[in-house]
Amino acid sequence: MHGCYCGYYGSETDSQRCTCSPGRIAHYRSRISGPMLDRIDLQLEVPRPKEWYQEQASISSAEMKKQVLEAQTVQEERYRELPLSWNSELSGSLLRKFCKMEPGAYKLLQQTVEVLGLSMRSYDRILKLSRTIADLSSAEQIGVEHMAEAIQYRKLDVKI
Ligand SMILES: [Zn+2]
Repeated sequence: MHGCYCGYYGSETDSQRCTCSPGRIAHYRSRISGPMLDRIDLQLEVPRPKEWYQEQASISSAEMKKQVLEAQTVQEERYRELPLSWNSELSGSLLRKFCKMEPGAYKLLQQTVEVLGLSMRSYDRILKLSRTIADLSSAEQIGVEHMAEAIQYRKLDVKI
């Protein structure tokens, strides 16, 4: 989806500046309901192609693929004796058991949920996402940096 009605939200280019008022932007985004947003795992801002091409990819596709395969292996190992395979399937006590956070990460999540008034479902989503991000860097516990990245991927939960 676009970020707003005119479609230029977030654009840095002078000729393509967003003309929507904050109220219009909020209205545009409110068309996606909370329960709907809760079913979306990743929300992130994708720059317009012109700006995007100028940015260098920080890691290669091959490197990314390697990390993803490793993260999948970690999850397969972790859930071998359970009727699930992926972090995204965690819930309840299993979620708490497998998504151990460093104190800083826990604090960051608590604060984010409090400040933004997020739902419990949203809390769980961010937690599961941070588990996957931690797996991508082979971390046993979810660290602050993993949590911060997971929160970044829930951009639409953040009211503007
Ligand atoms: Zn706009």
